[in-house]
Amino acid sequence: MEVEAVVIHEPQHVPRALPDGQEQDWRAAAACLDSDPDLFFPISTKDSWSRELAFEHCRPCQVREECLGVALADPRLTGIWGGTDEIDRQRLRANRRRRSEETT
Ligand code: SF4
Repeated sequence: MEVEAVVIHEPQHVPRALPDGQEQDWRAAAACLDSDPDLFFPISTKDSWSRELAFEHCRPCQVREECLGVALADPRLTGIWGGTDEIDRQRLRANRRRRSEETT
């Protein structure tokens, strides 16, 4: 019996479904589709070489907004998502909170 090889075209570090089970169809258009997932999990915030390579994937990515939205919604997520790292996302969440408090 012949076994057909299956090629998975998906970003390896972005889960197929969110914790609530919602599928993430946008993953098929990700610029990091076939990239090494390790790139997106730099050893530290000082690992500038790996971070820059990851950011180079994110800059032109067509689904950057969707990717960033997922990461902003879940503070437990680590690594590079939507062109940001954990520290960038902490700042973005703080800015959003501040703006929201100013308008209420
Ligand atoms: S924004 Fe970056 S991490 Fe997110 S899918 Fe695109 S390339 Fe991958």
